[in-house]
Amino acid sequence: MTYFRRTIEEMSGYEPGEQPDSEANVIKLNTNENPYPPSPQALKVMQEMNGEWLRRYPDSMAEPFRQAASQALGIPQDWILVGNGSDDLLTMIVRACAEPGRAVVYPTPTYVLYRTLAQIQDAEPREIPYLEDYQLPLDELIAAKGAVTFIASPNSPSGTAVPGEMLDQLAMQLSGVLVIDEAYVDFAEENALDLVQKYDNVIVLRTLSKGYSLAGLRVGFAIANPTLLKGLIKVKDSYNVDAIACRVGAAAIADQAYKIANADKVKRSRAKVAQDLESLGFKVLPSQANFLLVQPQHIEAESFYQNLKRRGILVRYFKQPRLEDKLRITVGTPEQNEVLISTLIELYQ
Ligand SMILES: *Cc1c(COP(=O)(O)O)cnc(C)c1O
Repeated sequence: MTYFRRTIEEMSGYEPGEQPDSEANVIKLNTNENPYPPSPQALKVMQEMNGEWLRRYPDSMAEPFRQAASQALGIPQDWILVGNGSDDLLTMIVRACAEPGRAVVYPTPTYVLYRTLAQIQDAEPREIPYLEDYQLPLDELIAAKGAVTFIASPNSPSGTAVPGEMLDQLAMQLSGVLVIDEAYVDFAEENALDLVQKYDNVIVLRTLSKGYSLAGLRVGFAIANPTLLKGLIKVKDSYNVDAIACRVGAAAIADQAYKIANADKVKRSRAKVAQDLESLGFKVLPSQANFLLVQPQHIEAESFYQNLKRRGILVRYFKQPRLEDKLRITVGTPEQNEVLISTLIELYQ
C-alpha cells in the first residue's frame, strides 16, 4: 500500500550535492558555485529591501528582471521567460511537452535532473551515451525523436561544449523542442543564442547561479520565440519568481562588467589547476565550464574523494557508468586551489 503514483514510488528522486553548513570550515568544490561574491550592485539592492516589496505579490512575469536581462543581452523582452532557477524552467518544459509516448532525450552522462523530471511526468527518458571524447551522438539523438531533447553545453560533469554547428544540425533535423542548457556559458568561448532566432523549436536556458555567483537567489531564464514561451507560461506557477530575487537578479544581470571580470579570473584559475593536476599525473578533460572532470591514475577516485573530504575539501564523486573512476572538481579561488593541490601532494606523493 502506498499513497503515491507507481512511478513516484519506484523512482529514486534527484540527489543534490552535499551542502555543509555555511559556517563549516570546508573548501567547497562540489557543486560548481562561483568562488567570488555577487555583484556589489546586487548586494546594495538587497540592503535597500523594503517591506512593501514583500507585502504585495510579485510581478508574475518578473518584469523588472526581464527588462534588465533584455537590456543586458540585447534580446526583446517577450523572448525571455524568468524562473525560480533554471531548474524551474526545465520543469515547465517537461510539464508542457512530455508525457507517456512523448520521450525526453539527452546524451549521457549529463545533468541528472533531466531524468528525474521525465520520470515524474511518466515520459520515457531516452539516454544516448556520448561518443568517445564527448562527441555528440548526433544521428542517434535525431533518430530518438524526442518531444524534448536536452543538451547541456558546456555539459556537466564533463565540462565539454558542443560546437555551434552541431547544435544547428540538431535544431534543423529534430521535430521536437531542442533545449540548450547554458548554465555554464559564462565560462565558455561560444553560445547558441543565434539558434533561437534561426529555429522556432529552440530554447536556450541561462542561470544566475554559476556566472553571477547567485545560486542561493534562484533566478534562471529561458530565451525562445514568444509562441514557444506561451506554452510554458500556461504551466508555470503564477508567482514563480519572488520579489527579492526579481530585483536583486535585475541588478546582477545589469552588471555585466563584474560578471565578466570574475569569469576571467575563474578561467585563468581553471588553466592553472588543470596544469597542476596534469603534472601530478591526473588525466584532465578540457573544460569550458567552472569545473574540471579529472581521472586520478593508480588510485581509486572514490578513495580520493573520501580522503579529501576527511581533510575538509569537498569534491563531487558520481557512482555512475563512465564516471566511477573520475572526480568533478569546481574551480575555487587561487587560495582554495592551492590548498587542494598541496593536499593532493601530501596525500599521494
Ligand atoms: C547548475 C545547473 C543548472 C541549475 O541551475 P539553477 O538555475 O541553479 O536551477 C541547470 N543545468 C545545469 C547543467 C547545471 O549544472
